[in-house]
Amino acid sequence: MKSQAQLSTLLFELDSRGYKAYKQIKGEYEFEDDFTLIIDYVQGDPFAAPTQCSVIIPQAIAKFSEDLYSTLSREIALRDYLSRQFAQVAKEFSGFRGTGKSGLIQGIEPAQEVFERTSVFIDDQDIEVRFWVGLPAKGRSILGRQAEEMLCYDLPQIVKKSLLYENLDGAAIKEHIETVEDAEWIRSELDKRGLVSFIANGSILPRRSGVDPRPLTDNVVPFEAPTDLEVSFDCPNHGLIKGMAISKGITLIVGGGYHGKSTLLKAVELGVYNHVPGDGREWVITNASAVKVRSEDGRSIASVDISPFINHLPQGQSTQRFCSNNASGSTSQATNIIEALEVGATALLLDEDTSATNFMIRDRRMQQLIQKDKEPITPFVDKVRQLYKDHGVSTVLVMGGSGDYFDVASTVIAMENFQPHDVTTEAQSIAAAHKNERLLEGGDTFGEITPRIPVSESIDASRGKRSVTIKVRDTHALGFGTEDIGLGGVEQLVETSQLRAIALGIIYGKDKYGEANLALKDLVAKIMADIEEEGLDILSEYPQADLAYFRQFELVAALNRLRTLQIQ
Ligand code: ADP
Ligand code: MG
Repeated sequence: MKSQAQLSTLLFELDSRGYKAYKQIKGEYEFEDDFTLIIDYVQGDPFAAPTQCSVIIPQAIAKFSEDLYSTLSREIALRDYLSRQFAQVAKEFSGFRGTGKSGLIQGIEPAQEVFERTSVFIDDQDIEVRFWVGLPAKGRSILGRQAEEMLCYDLPQIVKKSLLYENLDGAAIKEHIETVEDAEWIRSELDKRGLVSFIANGSILPRRSGVDPRPLTDNVVPFEAPTDLEVSFDCPNHGLIKGMAISKGITLIVGGGYHGKSTLLKAVELGVYNHVPGDGREWVITNASAVKVRSEDGRSIASVDISPFINHLPQGQSTQRFCSNNASGSTSQATNIIEALEVGATALLLDEDTSATNFMIRDRRMQQLIQKDKEPITPFVDKVRQLYKDHGVSTVLVMGGSGDYFDVASTVIAMENFQPHDVTTEAQSIAAAHKNERLLEGGDTFGEITPRIPVSESIDASRGKRSVTIKVRDTHALGFGTEDIGLGGVEQLVETSQLRAIALGIIYGKDKYGEANLALKDLVAKIMADIEEEGLDILSEYPQADLAYFRQFELVAALNRLRTLQIQ
C-alpha cells in the first residue's frame, strides 16, 4: 500500500497534465491519521460520473462501542446516522474548484427514511464509508494542487469530524438508534395485535411541500387518536407510546376536502419504513407488507389475471391473461392490486384522489342504465370484503366522495380539521337507515390469484455494446437498457438508490435464477432472501455507494412495468 505522502507527490506531478492521467491514482493509500483511502474508480473527464472512493477507519480510532451496532436494526440505524453525518460534513468542504464536477466531495444524502444502504458499513474491525469526489480540472487539464488539497487535507478533516465517535453527539446517536429499534419493535407487534398500522399521538403528518419531505412547521396540528381507537405500546427504549390503531379489516377514512385524509394515508404508506427522529412520522408504523395501489393509465401489463375485477372486455380480449401497452385507469388499478397480491401483500392502501372512479364505485342508477353484462368492471366496493375473507388482505381506503363503502367498512374514521374521529357507529346507522339499493356484483368469493412465470429473455438491460446500462434520475423512472420503466405510480419509493438497487436486483435474479423458470413470487423471494443473507453488495461486481433497501413489492413493480416483459 502507498502512503499519503506518495499520493501527495503523485497529485503534484499530475498538475497540468491531461485529465486521463488521473487514472494513475487508482489504488490504496495509508493516511497519517490512521485511515485508508481506496480510490476504486476514476472518472474519465470532469463532467462524467465522479470518482468513487472509500475510506476505512479502524475501530481502534473510530471507537464505536459494540452496543451501538449489536443487532441488525441498531447497526442499520448507526450506519444511517453516519451516512448523514459524513454527507453533511463533506458538503461543507465541497466547493467549486474548476470545470464540471471539479471540487465535489459527496456522500449519499438519505431522505427521511432509515434503511440499509451501501454507503457505510461497520463491524468490530472498522468502519467503511463510500463517497464520490469530483477530481478537479481546468478544462481538461488536471489541477493537481487542488486535488491534493481535497484528498490529503480536506478529506482527513471530514473523516475526523464525521466518523470518530468522540467528535459526534453521543446522545443524538443513541436517540437515532433507539428510535429505529422501537419503531422496528412496534412493527413486529402489529400483526400479533391485529393491526395494519399505528399512528402515535403527537405525530406530525404533513410535509413542508410536495417536493420537500421535511415536517411542516407552521400552523401544524399534531395527531391525536380518538379514545375509541387508542392503543398503546410499551417500547423497549421509549416506554409507553399511545396512538391510533388501524385494525385489520376494512378501514374507511372519510371527511371534508382539505381536512387531512390524504396526508394521513401518505404517512401510513411510508410507515413501512422507519424514520429519523424529528421527522414527525417516526412513530407512524405500518405493516411491512402494506402496498399503496392507484390507477396508472398508460402503463404496460403483461398477462395478468384481472378477472376478479374485470370480465367481458369489448372485442373478446382475455382478462385472465390481460395484456396492454396502454392500460386504462380501471384496468391499471385492477392490475396493480392483483400484482401486489401475487407477491404477498397483506394490506392495500387506496386514495380516492388517485383511484379510477369506475373501479371504485357503481351506484344503483348506473346499474340500471348500464346493465351488468355491458359493464366489464366489478367495482372494488363489491370485492373488498371477499378479499379480506378469502385472502386475509385488509384495505385502508380514503373515500370522501361516496357513502357506498359504509356497508362494507369495519371502521370509519372521519378527519376533521386534521384530527381523526371514530364515526363507525354513525356510519353504520346511516347505512341501516338509508338502505343502499345497489345490486351486489362481486359474487361470494374474490377469485384466484394466478401465478405468472416470466420469460427470462424478455428481461434485458443491455444497450449497444454494454451488457448492463442503468440510469436513474429521480424516483419516477428507471432507465433499464433501452427501456424506460415508469415508476411514477409506485408511491412507496423514496430514494433513487432504491431504484438503482432494484435494477441490479432484477438483473441478479435473471442471471442467477433465470433458467429455473420460477414464478414471479418465488423469484423475488429468492432475490430478497439472498440480499437479506449477504447484503446489498451481492447485486454489484464492484463496491457502489448508492444502493439502498427495497421491498419485494417495489422490485416486482419495476419488473411488471418493463415494457418488454413476457410471461410464459
Ligand atoms: P384531503 O385529502 O382531506 O383533501 P390533504 O390531506 O390533502 O386533504 O390535506 C390538505 C392540506 O392540509 C395539505 O396541504 C396538507 O399539507 C395540510 N395538512 C394536512 N394535515 C395537516 C395537519 N395536521 N396540520 C396542518 N396542515 C395539515
Ligand atoms: Mg385527498
